[in-house]
Amino acid sequence: MTITRTEVVVIGVGTMGSAILWRLAERGVRVLGLERFAPGHDRGSGHGESRILRTAQHEDPAYVPLVKAAVRGWRELERQTRTSLLTMTGGLSVGPSDGMLIRGALEAAAVHGLECGIVPETEAAQRFPAHRMQPGDTAVWERDAGVVRPEQAIVAAARRAVELGAGLRTGVRVLGVEDGPGDTVLVRLADGLVQADHVVLAAGPWISQLVPRAALPLTVERKILAWFPAAEPRRFEPDRFPVFLRETPEGRWYGFPTLDHTTVKVAFHHGGLEVDPDEIDRTVTAADVAPLGDVVARHLRGLDPVAVRAATCMYTNTPDAHFALGTPAAYRHLTVVSACSGHGFKFAPAIGELAADLALGSAPELPLDLFALDRFAGSVVGNDRGDG
Ligand SMILES: Cc1cc2nc3c(=O)[nH]c(=O)nc-3n(C[C@H](O)[C@H](O)[C@H](O)COP(=O)(O)OP(=O)(O)OC[C@H]3O[C@@H](n4cnc5c(N)ncnc54)[C@H](O)[C@@H]3O)c2cc1C
Repeated sequence: MTITRTEVVVIGVGTMGSAILWRLAERGVRVLGLERFAPGHDRGSGHGESRILRTAQHEDPAYVPLVKAAVRGWRELERQTRTSLLTMTGGLSVGPSDGMLIRGALEAAAVHGLECGIVPETEAAQRFPAHRMQPGDTAVWERDAGVVRPEQAIVAAARRAVELGAGLRTGVRVLGVEDGPGDTVLVRLADGLVQADHVVLAAGPWISQLVPRAALPLTVERKILAWFPAAEPRRFEPDRFPVFLRETPEGRWYGFPTLDHTTVKVAFHHGGLEVDPDEIDRTVTAADVAPLGDVVARHLRGLDPVAVRAATCMYTNTPDAHFALGTPAAYRHLTVVSACSGHGFKFAPAIGELAADLALGSAPELPLDLFALDRFAGSVVGNDRGDG
């Protein structure tokens, strides 16, 4: 049996894994990425044309320094790879003033002094004519929001890592992780073992399969994305139509400016079926897309509510929807990254740095309390948030 030796192995070269590989390679670490498919594929959580980046984090003000670090990271990656990955459009949140979106965004803005605030009703109607506001809705605008291109970002980070000396094996499925001799860890593949000082497990929806003894309370959710044609696509271009989040009686949902000059992508946040990532049904049915067509018809103007394109994707959720980042008690020399509960893409370059710190035993620059694995002690595996 072949045994390969390296310093750090990154399992999964998707969203987080590609960024971690890049950040470790930048530090001159001997690192090997192992990816079951290939960077930029469409079978995990990092595909579907676009991801929202917001700075006024309604989830918790503690995310704001992380997103600021991530914006600097995206710009660095753009410079290093001469690609365009992040387009700032500003961001609009619309919902009841006492709902999570509005309350949370305003709180994050107040704590961190962000350029973000309520837009008066008549001004909102003029500036955002595509949005039908409901009685009682509040509109909040933030300057520092935009769109990240997920497939391009993953490919760019993985390529840059390899340029900087990282190893990358694609089409290889990791079968397990076990303690190695001395202070090492072994990664089991069909054709051999890799021995390392540390493993970073960035396997997204497949994390739980690879660390069963950690009993992490993660659930995987099937998500549907759909693209709706615009009658006048010019009105939905990134310079006129910001990324948006809406909280309506149907649930929380979000959308993007047109990136193909034809359609607008819309998706619900949560409310999808819990699935096994190896068994997920990737066929999108009319019934899957119908609820999205309904919110488009009811709450937006200028879009045909019949989708012309749709896709499935997966969230990996924790019970409180905050990330999971750290070493499970049952495993040595292994860092889990990061069960981002459907809102992690924007943070990838910053999480890459944090995970690199953890893998090398350095103190991370940003606090990780919100993401500590020990908060799951006593949790039941399952997700009862039921939010829409
Ligand atoms: C529909 C949708 C919309 C989203 N919208 C946003 C948004 O607007 N803004 C935002 O910030 N976030 C958003 N997110 C969340 C964000 O995309 C995810 O948090 C992020 O992509 C998760 O990255 P990951 O690296 O954990 O998983 P992935 O990107 O899926 O990477 C995991 C990788 O591990 C590989 N792998 C798994 N098992 C093995 C194995 N045994 N051996 C080798 N390789 C393996 C997989 O092939 C995969 O490439 C969204 C997610 C979805 C699904």
